[in-house]
Amino acid sequence: VPERIGRPEGLRRARKRIAVKVSGEVTLSSGPDGDGLDPTDWPSFRALCHDALDEALDYLEGARDRPVWTPVPEETRTALNKPLPLEGEGPAAVRAAIVRHILPFATGNTHPRFFGWVHGTGTPGNLLADLYGSAMNANLGGRDHAPMYVERQVMAWCREIFSFPETSGGLLVVGTSAATLLAMAAARDAALGDRARKAGLQDRLHSLVGYASAEAHECVAKAFQVLGLGRSALRLVPVDERFRIDVAALRSMIAEDRRSGFEPFCVIGSAGTVNSAAVDPLAELATVCESEELWFHVDGAFGALAILSSAHESLLAGIERADSLAFDFHKWMHVQYDAGCVLVRDESTLRRAFGARPDYLMHAARGLAGGDLWPAEIGLDLSRGFRALRVWATLKEHGTRAIGAAIARNCDQATLLGRLVEQTADLELLAPVSLNIVCFRFRPSETEPVDLDQLNLDIVADVQESGIAAPSTTRIDGVIAIRVNLTNHRTRDEDLEILLDSVLEFGRRRIAPSSVPEGA
Ligand SMILES: *Cc1c(COP(=O)(O)O)cnc(C)c1O
Repeated sequence: VPERIGRPEGLRRARKRIAVKVSGEVTLSSGPDGDGLDPTDWPSFRALCHDALDEALDYLEGARDRPVWTPVPEETRTALNKPLPLEGEGPAAVRAAIVRHILPFATGNTHPRFFGWVHGTGTPGNLLADLYGSAMNANLGGRDHAPMYVERQVMAWCREIFSFPETSGGLLVVGTSAATLLAMAAARDAALGDRARKAGLQDRLHSLVGYASAEAHECVAKAFQVLGLGRSALRLVPVDERFRIDVAALRSMIAEDRRSGFEPFCVIGSAGTVNSAAVDPLAELATVCESEELWFHVDGAFGALAILSSAHESLLAGIERADSLAFDFHKWMHVQYDAGCVLVRDESTLRRAFGARPDYLMHAARGLAGGDLWPAEIGLDLSRGFRALRVWATLKEHGTRAIGAAIARNCDQATLLGRLVEQTADLELLAPVSLNIVCFRFRPSETEPVDLDQLNLDIVADVQESGIAAPSTTRIDGVIAIRVNLTNHRTRDEDLEILLDSVLEFGRRRIAPSSVPEGA
């Protein structure tokens, strides 16, 4: 490495200019007031930001005191349907519009009774990370700067959490959908080798097939589609009575495909399915993959982090044998959106799939273009935001013990809710509670026959519109279920009772002979 030379004297002293000899007609202009898009009045901008910070903190401290969700009013729709601004209105107008039209009408996942889909709650602590992250505006495509070391630190911690080997690596991405796409690309290229990387699938020499349970998330089929393998190349394996992949069926499907001339290349296990949080027997899947020489991928979007709870980690045994793992920090680690992760057992598999170093991204032994691992070479994105700061800050502020304890509490709450459902007349549990999701329905015993699917869809909409709670719906064994997902560190046990009371209340109102439900 050539020796660094010191900074020129002129730069050491603030405001002292380097003398430039300008010839002829060239004049140096300082630009519009010298400072582009910066505030024209820093003191008032500063005051505005201080007030905004207080407003954001009030919003979080008072999370419990608002309705969970409020339908987006006409006024907001109008305010967000305006012509392209040619002249700016300044920062105060931006703040006023956010506070009036947007802030009160958000998804509601900051609320303790948000139980829909799989949403993380976020933490007040991440405001800090986002504030500084925004000030730095770092681009983590590569180069040598402290934010890169933050992401590397996060990946090293992930390796430790999941007991992955030293050769493992990966990167932070938008979420599990993106992580799954990268992992499947690595698996495909590992199966087909470099020749296929160039020719793609155009040589028609291969017919790769992969396997996941019928309960696997849609993002897996989507990845197969985008990678040109086709959705039908993802074989859906039946599940047992606890919604886990049937390993014997998997084995015979692999054998059958081989006999028919297909090339099995990977198996996708679910560590927490989206419908009922079922965890596939990961160790058994790892064994199948080892004996069949297949890539083993785990979709652990939310469930993988249950490894942080000592009461639940044994459910995930075998995850450490995966070739790749996709999971989210923005779900059960409550990192602010968005932050997902792809972790591969052998980092070179991602590099083989995505590594390229064009001239304009040349590395250097020193200077800003230094640093060994440029994430752009192991993934799809070149420009990348600093989501690693949020993850790092969450782990540093709370530690894995407190995060694991919050995860365990959610699982205990799911068990409790499942029991309450079983003990309540007119409620029916539709799936065993494996982790943190409870699927049930309102099923009144003493009434005229009703369309239970429509009734339960209506109840969920009623509960959401009341602002009391926000469960979502799915279908379990063909019937509509009220689905309660617990990835919420603010939920207290009493919130579950409030939810059940409102389900029963709306359900009974809807079947009462005299009732004329709103909107009917
Ligand atoms: C949420 C989820 C996904 C998709 O993750 P995103 O971060 O939303 O892209 C995939 N699989 C499972 C099991 C999920 O719960």
